[in-house]
Amino acid sequence: MCSALNRDEVLAAAEPLIELAIAEDIGAGDVTSEATLDPEAWLKGCILAKEAGVVAGLAVAERVFRRVNADVRFTARVEDGQEVVPGETVADVGGPARSLLAGERLALNFLQRMSGIATATRDYVDAVATTQATILDTRKTVPGHRLLDKYAVRMGGGTNHRMALFDMVLIKDNHIIGAGGITPAVERAHAAYPDLPIEVEVATLDQLREVLRITPPVDRIMLDNMSLSQMREAVGITGGRIPLEASGNVSLETVADIAGTGVDFISVGALTHSVRALDLSMDVAASTKAPEEDALVAAAKSIQNVRDALGDKLVILAHHYQRDEVIDLADYRGDSLQLARQASQTEAEHIVFCGVHFMAQVAAILAQPGQRVFLPDPSAGCYLADTATLSDVEAAWCALDDTFGDAESQFTPITYVNSSAALKAFCGRHGGIMCTSSNAPDAVRWALERRPRLFFFPDQHLGRNTATLVGIPPDEIVMWDRGHALPEGTLREACVVLWPGACNVHQRFRPDHVRGVRADHPDVRVIVHPECKAEVVALADDAGSTAHIIQRVSEAPSGTTWAIGTEARLVHRLAKEHPEQTVFLLGGVTPYCATMSQITLENLADTLQGLVRGDLSREITVEEETAKWAGVALRRMLDL
Ligand code: SF4
Repeated sequence: MCSALNRDEVLAAAEPLIELAIAEDIGAGDVTSEATLDPEAWLKGCILAKEAGVVAGLAVAERVFRRVNADVRFTARVEDGQEVVPGETVADVGGPARSLLAGERLALNFLQRMSGIATATRDYVDAVATTQATILDTRKTVPGHRLLDKYAVRMGGGTNHRMALFDMVLIKDNHIIGAGGITPAVERAHAAYPDLPIEVEVATLDQLREVLRITPPVDRIMLDNMSLSQMREAVGITGGRIPLEASGNVSLETVADIAGTGVDFISVGALTHSVRALDLSMDVAASTKAPEEDALVAAAKSIQNVRDALGDKLVILAHHYQRDEVIDLADYRGDSLQLARQASQTEAEHIVFCGVHFMAQVAAILAQPGQRVFLPDPSAGCYLADTATLSDVEAAWCALDDTFGDAESQFTPITYVNSSAALKAFCGRHGGIMCTSSNAPDAVRWALERRPRLFFFPDQHLGRNTATLVGIPPDEIVMWDRGHALPEGTLREACVVLWPGACNVHQRFRPDHVRGVRADHPDVRVIVHPECKAEVVALADDAGSTAHIIQRVSEAPSGTTWAIGTEARLVHRLAKEHPEQTVFLLGGVTPYCATMSQITLENLADTLQGLVRGDLSREITVEEETAKWAGVALRRMLDL
C-alpha cells in the first residue's frame, strides 16, 4: 500500500549505505591494487550476467564507482527491470585501474543483491500470471536496505506492502491479544488513524467472519497460514467485499495453488529475507586513458560507414520496442507489418530488421525478388510466438477434427502476426487469415461470416479482447488446454477457441495498476495494448495497437496525462517526444521485452560489416511452400 519508489529516492537511501560500505571495505586503502597497479594504469571492461535474471540497482552501482573516483565511467547497457541472459552485458565500465577494482566488489554487492530480489520476484509474479493475485513484499528486509529491497521488488514486477510501521495499520495476533479482541483493536485503530489503511490478520474463519461484521470495514484482511481449502472458503465467505491477502509459508512451489484459491494478494517474505544474489561479474582489459572511444560510438560510426558505402541498397528497420540508439540509426521505425511493407517498397537489396524473428520472417515473405532480410541476432525470438508451434496447433486441429468430423467445416483459424511463418501458412492452407492488433476485429468478423466458429492463436488475451469487442458472449469463449481434451459439450457450445499463449511483457499489467494510477492521478487517461489481460482492458479508458497508442498521445490536447500499458521503451520515447503531455508507464512493472533487447548497436554493426564481406549467416528465409501459404493468409488480411 506504499506509494511508488523512484530512482532518486532509492539513490538517496543508498548514499549512507554506500558510505558505510566504502568505509568498511576500502577503509585506509585497497592495498592489493595499490601494490600491484601503476597509479596511471587504466582499465576498461564490462559487468556481465553469468545467469539469466532481472537487473535492479544500476544507479546504485554507478554511484558506488563514482563515489570511489569521479573519473570512473559506468554506462548501463540495460535498464532496471530488464531481463538479461547469460553472457549479456549489463554495463560498460572504464577508468583508473585502482579505483575500478576498489569499487568492483562494492558495486557488485549492491547490484547482485538487488537483482537477486528482482529475479525472485519475477519468478513469483510469472507463477501467478494467469490469476488475479498480486505478489507483495514484507518488512523482512536487511536493516537499512528497506528502500533498496522494495525498489528491487518493484523492478521484478511485484507490489510493495507497507513501507514500515508508520504508513499503514496492520493488526496482528499480538495486537489482538493486547487489545482484548479483534473488534476493539480495529475500533481503536479507526479512531486513532482514520486516514490510514487498516489491515487485520485472521487465523481462523470465525475471526474472518468477525472482521467482516465490523463497520466501517477494514481495507484488507490477511489470512495467516491458512490451508488451501480454508483460503477457498474464506474467499467464498468474503464474496469480494474486502480484498484478501494470503500470508505464511509461501514458496515458488505453492504460490500458484494459493493464487488459484482466488485471494487478491500473496505476501512473500522470502523475496527479501532469503535473497540469492544474481550471478554478475566484472571483466576488464587493459586500456589507455585517452582518447578512449566508447563502444557504442564505435559501433555507430561503423554502421554509418556501411550505410554510406551501400546507399540505397540497404534499409534498416527498427520496431518501436527497440533501444533508442538503434531507433536513431534506422531508416524506418514502426510496427512489424508496417515496416515489412515499407521495406518491400524500397529498392534495397539488404533489409536489416531490428526486431524479433517472426518480424523478419514477415519481411522475408513480403520481400521482392532480389531482396534479402537479416536479423542482427537470429536467436531473438518472441515469447508469445514461441507458445504455439506448428505441431502443437496441428495436434489441436486433429482433436477438433475428432469432435466435429471435419474441423475445417466449423472453424476458421486466425493467427496473430506475432506467430511463426509456419502458423501463418497453416491458416493459409485451412481457409484462415492473419491479423494484427489493429485489424483483429475485422478478421474475426470475416472469419465468422465463413464458418460458425474460430480458432485464435497464439495470444489468448488479444483473442478474448477482440471476441468481446465484436459481441461474442464470455461463455462462448473457451481456452484450449494442451494437456487435456476439452469436453465435447464445451467445444460444441463454443464460438471461439483460444490458444493459451500470452506475451510476458503485456500480461504483467494488472487491474490494481489501473486502480492505483486513477487514485494517484484522477485526470489520467489509461491506454493499454490489447495483449493485456481482459480485466485490465476493461478498466482502461482505451485499448489499441502500438500505432493507435502513439496516435492518441500525439493528437491529445496538450496537458493530458497518460498512463500507458505497453512495452517500456515505447512509453519512455513517447514521454520524451511529447513534453507537452505527461506520459508514464502504467503500474509498478517495468515491461521491457527481453528478446527485443537482444538487438544491440554492436550486433547491428557486425551484421552490416558482414554484408560488406558477403556474410549471409544472419539472413532469415522462409521456405517457399510455407511462404506461399503464409502469403495467402496475409493477403486475405490485407484485403479486409
Ligand atoms: S513484447 Fe511480447 S509479443 Fe512483442 S516481441 Fe516481445 S514477447 Fe513478443
